[in-house]
Amino acid sequence: MAVFSMPDFADHEQVVFCSDDASGLKAIIAVHNSNLGPALGGCRMWPYASEDEALRDVLRLSRGMSYKSAMANLKLGGGKTVVIGNPRTDKTPALLEALARAIENLKGRYIAAEDSGTSVDDIKFMSRFTRHVAGITDKPTDIGTRSGDPSPATAYGTFVGIKAAIKDRLGRDQVDGLKVAIQGIGHVGYDLARQLHEAGAELWIADIHPEQLTRAADEFGATVVAADRIFGLDVDVFAPCAMGAILNDESIPQLKATVVAGAANNQLAETRHGAELARRGILYAPDYVINAGGIIDIYHERIGFERDALIRHIDGIQDNLMEIFSRAREEQRPTGEVADAIAEERFRP
Ligand code: NAD
Repeated sequence: MAVFSMPDFADHEQVVFCSDDASGLKAIIAVHNSNLGPALGGCRMWPYASEDEALRDVLRLSRGMSYKSAMANLKLGGGKTVVIGNPRTDKTPALLEALARAIENLKGRYIAAEDSGTSVDDIKFMSRFTRHVAGITDKPTDIGTRSGDPSPATAYGTFVGIKAAIKDRLGRDQVDGLKVAIQGIGHVGYDLARQLHEAGAELWIADIHPEQLTRAADEFGATVVAADRIFGLDVDVFAPCAMGAILNDESIPQLKATVVAGAANNQLAETRHGAELARRGILYAPDYVINAGGIIDIYHERIGFERDALIRHIDGIQDNLMEIFSRAREEQRPTGEVADAIAEERFRP
């Protein structure tokens, strides 16, 4: 397997392959860039079909973390871990211990957090064997959360980001009366729905699992729609809060909303879809800018949690988006491209 010549290798500083026969651990830790600070990112466990696939994923994800942290003005670099295996059957205490020891060997260049396939409890367990973990501290606040879960902070940041986007695109200062379609009423989507409802928005919601939908419909007076109808609604804002790649050749032509602003990661199926949104006059809030509340929350856990400082920092998502929107207009470029350029200005010396 070629590594240095892979397109995704780009300018990674370090890629570490870790294995432990006794526990069956096979993991790759990637440090993309540490100019601003230690590389922080989640540990993803997934039954990758091949080692190539795992390597591509860790390189792409660690690079994304450099952009996200730099954009959020955090003194953190970008990193990620992937563990090759099925989290339901292969994740044992021995494997987590071996992974933690591998992370400890990097002496703080990489800091691990939870991701798909690992839980806050797994990271707490790993903290017995390495100091270099984050996102595990109980925090008594309505934004930073109990048990390290960053979702409420992500939802708050997304709410702040929606306000920036409607001001820019619709000239609106108020959420009251705003029509918003939310795709995915999970950890983030549910809390976002609550905040939008409290601010007077009218909501349409879709999910593939009914339980949360019924609860959100009852509590927030939201209208439930079928999952495939959420794109084409006559609303002001489409807020993707489910999975990635949902802005694609099929969904974009259906959109009537003139603002796309939600928490999901990797929303654009391909970079060209950002240009297509711009061509149609749809303002896209770049995903890693608007969904940074969670990583900001984790960062504040590291620097000594203080609720007001956390809220001020998350409120900064509004300034970041305003800068991106106005530069995109001036330079006639898609917002995603402008976001990448600003992030690079921040993490490259
Ligand atoms: P979650 O799993 O709790 O919620 C996702 C919801 O989307 C689930 O209820 C699921 O049933 C639903 N869903 C899946 N496919 C769907 C479809 N086709 N149509 C409609 N609904 C569908 O996840 P979450 O923690 O709320 O995260 C949501 C998104 O935000 C993810 O893309 C995640 O990567 C991203 N994100 C989350 C955080 C965080 O702090 N949790 C931080 C940054 C980004």
